[in-house]
Amino acid sequence: MPSEFDLIARYFTRPTRSTGVVQLGVGDDCALIAPPANESLAVSTDMLVEGRHFLPDADPESLGHKALAVNLSDLAAMGARPLGFSLALALPSADETWLASFARGLFALADTEQIELIGGDTTRGPLTICITVFGSVPIDQALRRDGARANDDIWVSGSLGDARLGLDILMRQRKLSASDSAIALQRLHRPSPRLSLGLALRGVASAAIDISDGLIGDLGHILQRSSVGATVGADVLPIGSALRSQDQQTQYEFALTGGDDYELCFCAPPSQRDSVLTAAQSAGVLVTCIGQISEASGLRVLDGAGKPLNLRLRSFDHFSNP
Ligand code: ADP
Ligand code: MG
Repeated sequence: MPSEFDLIARYFTRPTRSTGVVQLGVGDDCALIAPPANESLAVSTDMLVEGRHFLPDADPESLGHKALAVNLSDLAAMGARPLGFSLALALPSADETWLASFARGLFALADTEQIELIGGDTTRGPLTICITVFGSVPIDQALRRDGARANDDIWVSGSLGDARLGLDILMRQRKLSASDSAIALQRLHRPSPRLSLGLALRGVASAAIDISDGLIGDLGHILQRSSVGATVGADVLPIGSALRSQDQQTQYEFALTGGDDYELCFCAPPSQRDSVLTAAQSAGVLVTCIGQISEASGLRVLDGAGKPLNLRLRSFDHFSNP
């Protein structure tokens, strides 16, 4: 039976890259990272718990990808550049086949996004994956939630709702064509953090958030923190390509309230429209203007005829949802 230290050495220790950012990685009491001068350290933690965030038979390689992706998405939403991450793992047993696949998914994304694993903790317990990411952003350039102002445009990246559709497929509540199924499950299991877009929106966006719990709820956080309201057009939402196979009510509901898309929702004054489109183009991501910020509080969602939508508009919350 391998020891905790064998597992760390075998699966989670790699040579430190020579970029100078990570001065000391896995193996000491603390890691040492040197953020660039005049930049703030951006720190975020996200946890995935078996039975809560993923099913017991979840593919470990996808889990490795997703555990890091959801954390990188927070850096993206802040306009931060990734520096390093730590990994706290509770494992029911030392299942090396599982660990090898998990590490493969994790490091594939880490290499793509050029972020290093710098430390962590490993213990026996119910399967839980907790990652903390460290990034950096020039002082006063972070894309915070509290910067939205009346008349700002509201934008979202990519498309919405396919991850929620993937969840229905997983729960065997919906039958789709093989190709739509593949798209929806890919969106659910392998989210793409919008890091390049976040960086390109520095100095352009007034506020930003990543969509993890559903557009309505997450945009709601921007509205609350910025003390403003908003009007959103349901007919202009970028509906995921697999979700377009479903009826209109389902399209609206999943795009507005479905979680796990990990797109960015951000605001910018109308004077920045060209800059937003240029930023999106440079990041290779589609962006869509879905509405406007208003002085009056509250969130109104209108259909194509301008009538308020009557939807069960709830976002996911771990304590108020079952
Ligand atoms: P400590 O006793 O100081 O908490 P540990 O024995 O838990 O140290 O860990 C030894 C080293 O291995 C530390 O540098 C720690 O950051 C690293 N480490 C532990 N678990 C992981 C992991 N899952 N991934 C990466 N590094 C890890
Ligand atoms: Mg420890």
